[in-house]
Amino acid sequence: MHQADVVIVGAGPAGLGIASHIKRPFLILEKENRPGGLMRSKMIDGFTFDWAGHIFFTGIDRIRTWVEHLMGGNFHWQDRESWIYSKSTYTRYPFQANTYGLPTEVVKECLLGLIEATYQDVNTPPGNFRDWIYQTYGTGIARHFLIPYNEKIWARDLSTMDYEWLGGRVPRPGLAEFVDGALGPGHKNMGPNARFGYPLSGGIEALARKMSEPITDVIRPGTRVTGIDPARKRILTDTGDEITYRDLVLTAPLPEMIAATRDVPAEIERAARSLEHLSVLCVNVGIEQAQSTDRHWVYFPEPDFLFHRVFVQGNAAPGVCPEEYFSFTAEITYNSTKRIDFNTAGDQTVNGLIQSGLMNRDDRVAVVDLVDIPVGYVVPTHDRRPAVETIRRWYKTFDIHLAGRFAEWAYYNMDHSLDAGWTLADQLSAK
Ligand SMILES: Cc1cc2nc3c(=O)[nH]c(=O)nc-3n(C[C@H](O)[C@H](O)[C@H](O)COP(=O)(O)OP(=O)(O)OC[C@H]3O[C@@H](n4cnc5c(N)ncnc54)[C@H](O)[C@@H]3O)c2cc1C
Repeated sequence: MHQADVVIVGAGPAGLGIASHIKRPFLILEKENRPGGLMRSKMIDGFTFDWAGHIFFTGIDRIRTWVEHLMGGNFHWQDRESWIYSKSTYTRYPFQANTYGLPTEVVKECLLGLIEATYQDVNTPPGNFRDWIYQTYGTGIARHFLIPYNEKIWARDLSTMDYEWLGGRVPRPGLAEFVDGALGPGHKNMGPNARFGYPLSGGIEALARKMSEPITDVIRPGTRVTGIDPARKRILTDTGDEITYRDLVLTAPLPEMIAATRDVPAEIERAARSLEHLSVLCVNVGIEQAQSTDRHWVYFPEPDFLFHRVFVQGNAAPGVCPEEYFSFTAEITYNSTKRIDFNTAGDQTVNGLIQSGLMNRDDRVAVVDLVDIPVGYVVPTHDRRPAVETIRRWYKTFDIHLAGRFAEWAYYNMDHSLDAGWTLADQLSAK
């Protein structure tokens, strides 16, 4: 039996955010063989691919300052080249401000819908994500992009979701901006990630490595937490360890942590069962061709393409491909109702890259590699927030705390998870 003051489950951004700022002794248990969580990368035949393309952007000043300071010279910033491919046409992201090039009928429908949405006399806030899309952008933009894209990625009826998770992520153009972006190649820099950062070498994992370097002696990789006994303040691991703690921090997926916890009341189990997620299959493709596009990522709303988004990994940094080679990561969501065939996903992805012109038919394919992320997106259902709060309150009575995307079951990016960890570190340090 070991004793620790603070035990942290998971060495992803949230766990590293806590570990880097807490002023109490701690131990991190991580089931994978190295830290990083989804902020990890893999190397294959000279290519570097992230665990799904991960770019860094943030509106949180202390996180930006910390990351820039840590990364020093191994970091660069780029203006986003983000596009949408629909109706055999590339338009700039965001769709709602950039319809230039689409068929005239489509542009007209989008404009009329936006005018109607702008001047409609509605006093009640929308009740769900689907209504929010129609109420905010009108029928044209909804029908030609926002509904098909979101139904493809979320694989469900959008009226079962709330929309507070968007929190400023989706820009709303004014009418003048819409007209500008319909008559010419309009708006490049709308939205929070118009400029993004990325390590020059090592993929996004370079950031995790920098964060974990000073604390390697207190990270225990290859150790999965399998049991939590809140009453005795004790955890069990798959390596046979029993560890007691004063405070326990969970950053691993909440339903999995509840399942590992002893003597959970029925109300808490019910809350955990209501939490839904999506899995993500990433198809990494490396080709022999120096640079087949200058785009950074492309959204695909139409069902002809298996993937909903392609991250152009080859343009993230000069160091991620061997010389004269280029690379992509296609993202495909799935769950028990939206099934995908892992055996054909590689071929379907390569065909989609050719069909959309991101690569040429005669480019030699050097690498096709699959990365499965079983818990990738938390689904913002209407029940999510109260369920998480119920669980959080119950755990807190046992000095068990939640931080990060999967423990708080929130739509967090890396910066939010890092910041959630930092905030909790301050609270625990003052305890
Ligand atoms: C497809 C996709 C694309 C994304 N793109 C971006 C992007 O471009 N930019 C961005 O900022 N964010 C992006 N994100 C979000 C980002 O990945 C997350 O916000 C962030 O990784 C969450 O950090 P975390 O520490 O909360 O969780 P995680 O990164 O999942 O870390 C949790 C850690 O807990 C460990 N763990 C789990 N169970 C156990 C257990 N039982 N015992 C011990 N350890 C355990 C895991 O191995 C993992 O290391 C993306 C996410 C996805 C799915």
